[in-house]
Amino acid sequence: MATREVSAMLYSLIKLIRRKPINRKCWCKEQSASDCQTNAVRCTDRPTLHEHMQDLTLEELTRYSRHLILPEVGLEGQRRLKNGRVLVVGTGGLGSPVALYLAAAGVGTLGIVDFDIVDETNLQRQIIHGTNDLLRPKIASARDRISDINPHIKIVSFETKIDSGNAIKIIKDFDVVVDGTDNFATRYLLNDACVLLDKPNVYGSVFRFEGQASVFHSNGGPCLRCLYPSPPPAGLVPTCSEGGVLGVLPGIIGCIQANEAIKLLLNDGETLSGRFLVFDAWKMKFRELKLFKDPQCPICGEHPTITELIDYEEFCGLKRHDNDIPVESITATDLKAIIDNEPETVQIIDIREPHEIAMGMLPRSRAIPFGQVVRRKEEFDPKLLNVFICKLGVRSELAIRALKQAGFEGRIANLKDGTNAWAADVDHSVVTY
Ligand SMILES: [Zn+2]
Repeated sequence: MATREVSAMLYSLIKLIRRKPINRKCWCKEQSASDCQTNAVRCTDRPTLHEHMQDLTLEELTRYSRHLILPEVGLEGQRRLKNGRVLVVGTGGLGSPVALYLAAAGVGTLGIVDFDIVDETNLQRQIIHGTNDLLRPKIASARDRISDINPHIKIVSFETKIDSGNAIKIIKDFDVVVDGTDNFATRYLLNDACVLLDKPNVYGSVFRFEGQASVFHSNGGPCLRCLYPSPPPAGLVPTCSEGGVLGVLPGIIGCIQANEAIKLLLNDGETLSGRFLVFDAWKMKFRELKLFKDPQCPICGEHPTITELIDYEEFCGLKRHDNDIPVESITATDLKAIIDNEPETVQIIDIREPHEIAMGMLPRSRAIPFGQVVRRKEEFDPKLLNVFICKLGVRSELAIRALKQAGFEGRIANLKDGTNAWAADVDHSVVTY
């Protein structure tokens, strides 16, 4: 059948559907759509997304036919999607399904933000990137995949790390922000920027087998800070690269985020605003917590104390201060030289977790997990150089500070950039993860 005929059929089908009375709630959530349409004082229709909405082309009518025959989406809804602008921050585990499904659904402008390159450990879950994309910038690889899925949409790429200096500029032209990041600093940054710019923020996070999703700051709903005014202390909550994540989990949570973003653009359906969804992939259980707007919230409350973006690395305790306890650091090559030439002068303490240790240890090293370092301080010989190691050199530095605070006065050094640096500079056979 020719495209023209298919399109003509679709048009008649849509006309038929539109003639049928649809018993659904109005966007105002107060009454049915038909009641609202006869009550001009209350509300007449859902608000227009943008003043001059573009129409769908014949090709687009065919492509989106399964949406068009859904009364809840229909022609008007699909036009809203086409004229919608969604910013996906991060093209990793969560951002991959979000960007893929929003592109396929016909969201007209898709912004993507990433500064990373594709590495082999990403491919277990970041399905927007493939084996042929290894070592390519993620933004380039994501762009290629998205435009292959849907050449009708506009992709706006930001190859940068989003921070308080550029967040407002990046976010301001979008209607919805989807948080596909993996760290507290960026999550709080996005939350605050969305509240300040009055944009809904579709939240998602994953760790091991548990995923979470919500919609923050939508139609006056609660924000992330209403739930957690500030992040946990740095180093306390392990990241996915330390604790692992089931590959399919960000796929599930990311699809939920894409679903929420679509409803926000349609201004219909029931979103996760005011609800916090917790998903356990291992037990296959969904739980839902009710969220309330906190009148004391520092950014969206009645008397906000945060009125502009702050330094989020500092806020999340990720910055070092001059008045902090100084920590000596040692490079992987220098440590190798000591091991080779004066092995009796050094003691290497691997503070990683047992599942990480199982992947391999450095020569002459001993495992003492992070949580036991202070308790076992008598085991460190103050006459030797004690070198603490972990995967990236961040947790080991925290362990050293904790040990010094607990009164250990011997010499301690931190292996700079951890076992990953050892693998890169000394021994390529050591597993990186
Ligand atoms: Zn709030």
